[in-house]
Order: sequence, then structure tokens, then C-alpha cells
Amino acid sequence: MTDIELVKSKLDIVEVISSYVPTVTRAGANYRALCPFHNEKSPSFMINPSLQIFKCFGCGKAGDAIAFIQEIERLEFPEALKVAAEKAGVELTGRSVQKDEKLEAEKKRLIEANELTAKFYHYILQSHKMGKAGRDYALKRQIDGERMVKFMVGFAPIQNDALKKFLISKGFNEKELVKWGLLVERNGKNIDKFRNRLMQCIFNIRGDVVGFSGRYIGTSKEAPKYLNSPETLVYKKNEMLYGLFHAKEALRKEKFAILVEGNIDILSSHRVGIENIVAPLGTAFTKNQATLLKRYVDEVYFSFDTDSAGTKALIRGMEILEEAGLKHKVIDLTGYQDADQLICTKPEEWPERIKNAKDTVEYLMIKLQEPYDMGSAEGKKAYSSVVLPIVASVKDSVSRNQYVKDLSLNLEVPPDTIINLLSHQKKSALPRNENAEVGNEVVKPSQKNELEEFFLSLLMQGDSMSEVGVKKEWLESPLNQKIMELVTSSTEGDFSEIESKLTEEERKSFENILMIDVSGVKDRKGEMEKLSKRLKKDFLKREILRLRSELRKTLDKDKVISQIDTYVKELSK
Ligand SMILES: [Zn+2]
Repeated sequence: MTDIELVKSKLDIVEVISSYVPTVTRAGANYRALCPFHNEKSPSFMINPSLQIFKCFGCGKAGDAIAFIQEIERLEFPEALKVAAEKAGVELTGRSVQKDEKLEAEKKRLIEANELTAKFYHYILQSHKMGKAGRDYALKRQIDGERMVKFMVGFAPIQNDALKKFLISKGFNEKELVKWGLLVERNGKNIDKFRNRLMQCIFNIRGDVVGFSGRYIGTSKEAPKYLNSPETLVYKKNEMLYGLFHAKEALRKEKFAILVEGNIDILSSHRVGIENIVAPLGTAFTKNQATLLKRYVDEVYFSFDTDSAGTKALIRGMEILEEAGLKHKVIDLTGYQDADQLICTKPEEWPERIKNAKDTVEYLMIKLQEPYDMGSAEGKKAYSSVVLPIVASVKDSVSRNQYVKDLSLNLEVPPDTIINLLSHQKKSALPRNENAEVGNEVVKPSQKNELEEFFLSLLMQGDSMSEVGVKKEWLESPLNQKIMELVTSSTEGDFSEIESKLTEEERKSFENILMIDVSGVKDRKGEMEKLSKRLKKDFLKREILRLRSELRKTLDKDKVISQIDTYVKELSK
């Protein structure tokens, strides 16, 4: 048994959660509590003792006991494992880790090279004659001495081999430096990747330097403005945020994060004392980054550039936060290109604008009118085609209804028309493949299958799993059919036996069904009978439809017609 397995086997998830959460009460086969990860008045946080997992149907957080500790104590996995081991009275042997020692050694060496590089560039910027251009630029961008030191800002000189010579002298070889993105190959020679650039370190959550972002300060038109480290063993763009290491304390204190697009915005904001600020790393904001932020805050204030690219990024960012269950607002930067420009021009206005952050959707509903002639029918149509998906992505129905009212005024159409249009919108404009990024994705019961899922949950959480008059075929979803078969044929109450027969994906759906709160059902037998009738009716309706379309193709029409008749009669019973 590995350490992880051992710790988990000695812990009871209900006990662990009860030690953090005030009231945990029994609800059928599950336990129920108010979710500690999001604000709620009625509990949607469920714990299943037989599978030793928890799941919140409100915010989507889910996992095992260690994941719960990790989330609630805001720890990295290894630290959470330590806490869990203590609770379980288990001494860790390190067997869980079983990491590839060679890989670990390389990671260590890579971080060492990065740290040396950071110090080297920092020294050049601070004190060396090769750093003059960098110092001039930093001065122009108002990067002050304290921030320079805190963030280890540096300068990569224009020479081809300044860093190369330095790192080789420290015992590194060219091959590994190319692999780690510190050198690049040019015309058969390895030269410094970053040249004539103001350098910002990318820190991981522990404060190790894992990569760099360099702002070009020369005049060549060919050089890209920003150049970033490639992904390496220790640097994953989609899973980290620029500035997070230096924002941690402030995030916990302020309970919201300011999300900007540029690294320099962050230095400027720190300069005026506002430190709860982070940025994506040269890519669009991702779901993984939203999940990461959720460990610290429950709300995000966007402060994206005011151009159309910034607005697009804002719309997408908002969808991601809605999916992740984080609240959001917009800091209105009207009059300025970005946060940095505002802070450099009018530093006293930055905290004011933060304080007056606006509702994201209301902000977008106004902002997006700009390019259109709202007096014309075409203008309104074009406008609604961009605004409707945004309103549709809002999860909270109370807010959504308010936006519908606002929109009906903007478009001068009745609210019902908007509601009708909204119902034709996709739930989210996010492409499917993005969803795969997040580990604890919620598989939401589809509207259509809710009835089937409720039935299955009630079936599993009853005293006896076998006594039902429902036939497997009555269920429409093949997965639900499979679950029903497993539930009725396996050892009663042994959910892990069922899980072992499901694929990873199916398991998620199964767990969701098992954790549906059915404790409100007082008369289980009566409820089962009602459900049974409904499921049968739905089944008959589907069959009649299917047979009718078959009728067109078949030669033996009489047989099909008599079958339809039988079903119609049954349906009218
Ligand atoms: Zn929750």
C-alpha cells in the first residue's frame, strides 16, 4: 500500500469534514452540509461515506478526504497529505511519492539554473554597464527599486552569449540550457535566448523561479515584443499565474483577485500598495487558472485592456469564471489603455476604480453597444447576437432575470422574447475540448435525464435495491441503463464494486447520481410508484414515435401498427 492509500484507509471522510464544517447531517446514503467553499443558505454539499468522497452540487468542488483538506487549508498536495497523515496517525514513508529520482534531480538543477539566471540578469540591471538600456527603460516604465528587488526584475543584455558564458562557468552544459529554454540554436550555434530585454521572473507558488518573460526594448521590427520561456518540467503556463506568489497574502486578506493582462500592470499596482493582483502567462485565461484562484478567493475583478481584444478576453474570462463558480466584476479603465497606464498617470485613481468595480454583464451590455447603431433594427440584431451568449452564460438565475429586463429595455422588445431567444443559446460558448482541462469538472445531470437520475439515486439509497417494477429499457440513457443493471445485480450497498465496472467518465456520472439528495422524500414507496409510472410513460411515448417512423420503411405494416396500438392503449391507462 502506498502512503496515500494507507492514509485514506485510516481516515473517515465524514469525520474529517465534520471537524471543519459545523453541521453535517445524514441524508439517505449520504451526509449533507453547507458547503464551506461557496456561500449558500441551503446545503448542496454531499458526502458519501461508502465511496469516501464529497461533492458540492453548488460550486462543483469534489474529491476525497485529502482533496478536501487541500482545498480547505489551501495547501499543495504534499502538504495536505502530511496533514491528513497526522489526522490518520500514519507516519509517511515516502512510498507514495515513488518519483522518478532522475526527473527530480533534473527539476532541481533546472530551478538552480533559473535562479542563477535571475540573479545574473538582476545584477546586470542593477549594477552593470551592460544594463544601462534596461535601467533607462525601467525608469521610463516607473519600475521602482523596491519592486525591482521584490520581483527580481532583470535585464538580458544585447550580447549573444553573456548568460551562456556565465552558466557554463557554473557547470551547466549547452544541451540542457537549450532544453530549458535559456539558450536557443541559431545557425549551428547556441546563443542566449533573451537579448536586449527587460526580464521578469515567473515564480511558482513556493517562490522558485520557473521561467521568464522578456520585454524587448530595442528598435528591431522583427523581434517579438514579449518572449516567454517554453514549458518545461517545472513550468506549465496554463496552471500558473504571474504574480500569484507575491499576491497570496493579499488575496486571502482582500478575498478577491484583480486579473490583469500584463506583467508590468502588476509591478505598478504593487507600487501603489495594491497586491491582490495576478495575470495569465502570455496566454488567454484558462479554467485551470480559475480553479487555482478559487483556492484563495471567491471573486475576481477583471482589469483587461480597453481595446477590442481586451473586451473579447473579458467575455471569455467571464464564461470561464461562471463555469468555475467564481463571482466577478469589471474595473472600468475607460480613458486609459490598461491598468499600468492609469496607475502611472493617476495613481490615486486606481484604488477608486477598484472600489467602484462594475457588474461584468452590465458593463458589457453598455460597452458592446459602441460599434452598433442601436437606433436601427440591424444594429439591434447584431448587438443582440453578441450580448445574448453572454447573458446565457450567467449561472445565477436571479441575476440573469435582471439582465433580461435590462436587455429588453435596450432592444425595446418584451422580456419574453429575450427569454425565448436565450433558450436557443448554447449554455456556454466554450469549446468542448477546453472542458477537459479541469480535473474536478462537474458532470451536471442533463435536464432530460434528471428524472432517471433521481429514480436511480432513490433506488440506490433505499433499504432494498431490488424491489422495483421499473424495467431497464424504460430508461433512455444507455449509461443509466448500465447503472441500473449493475445496481440491481451487485452486492447491496457495495458501491465500489459497481464503480470497478465503470469507466473513469461513467464513474463521475455514477457518483453524481449517488450523491443526489433524496432525503426530502418521505414516502419512498409512493415516490417510487410515481416515478415508475412517469418513466414508463416516457418510454412508451418514445417507442410510439420510433415505431411511427419505422412504419414508413417497413413492409410488415400491420405488425407495427398493432404494436403501436398496444402502446397507445397502455399509455392511456
Ligand atoms: Zn460549494
